[in-house]
Amino acid sequence: MNLVIFGPPAAGKGTQSNFIVNKYNLYQLSTGEILRDEIKKKTPLGLEIESTINAGSLVSDEVLGKLIEKFISKEEYKNRFIFDGYPRNLSQAKNLDILLNKYDQKINLVLKLIVSLETIKKRISGRSVCSLCGKIYNQYYNPAPSNSNCCAPKFLQKRSDDTLDVVIKRYENYEKTTEPLIEFYKKINLLKVVNGESSIDAIKAEISGLIDANEGWL
Ligand code: AMP
Repeated sequence: MNLVIFGPPAAGKGTQSNFIVNKYNLYQLSTGEILRDEIKKKTPLGLEIESTINAGSLVSDEVLGKLIEKFISKEEYKNRFIFDGYPRNLSQAKNLDILLNKYDQKINLVLKLIVSLETIKKRISGRSVCSLCGKIYNQYYNPAPSNSNCCAPKFLQKRSDDTLDVVIKRYENYEKTTEPLIEFYKKINLLKVVNGESSIDAIKAEISGLIDANEGWL
């Protein structure tokens, strides 16, 4: 089973993807995370894309295409993908189809999380990520456990592109670029819309229901 998950920044894509990965033994291909990791490690690619990411703009389709093929071509991930952050526009969606086809795979379900800009602003102001394990927390809705060594306050970091200005830019970018590809997936009957304003547990239950309704994929 291969899934795509869509949503604006702080829609809960990361949290829900973590949940789906564990429950269904999938592999989360988060292009944003991979790119941030390149920046952290100061690789040639990281140095090239750092200013683009920090400005909230999109990295080129060509860079992304090469990056995701590295993963799609691996046998260990075959039919186990949840694509988070890719595709971001119509040309990436078409490229994803071509790549999946090349490695004898396809997309089974596309999830779209809907959240208002007001909610996003609130979520962003409290969001942090554990620099050791990558878990995402929110000091208002989903605080890190106080008894955990791994996710202790000293390991919690804000993302450098989680500032209000950059988030508004990323939100506008998301709206502008993803709308045509939502239509693309709607037309081929792969799209399911999920209310991202519900509680984390309610969203988990809704997503599980959508996946379980198609047991044949698993
Ligand atoms: P995300 O974590 O998905 O919000 O991505 C963070 C940033 O990484 C974006 O604002 C872009 O600069 C870059 N990025 C991630 N995925 C893509 C993609 N599919 N195409 C272009 N840029 C991307």
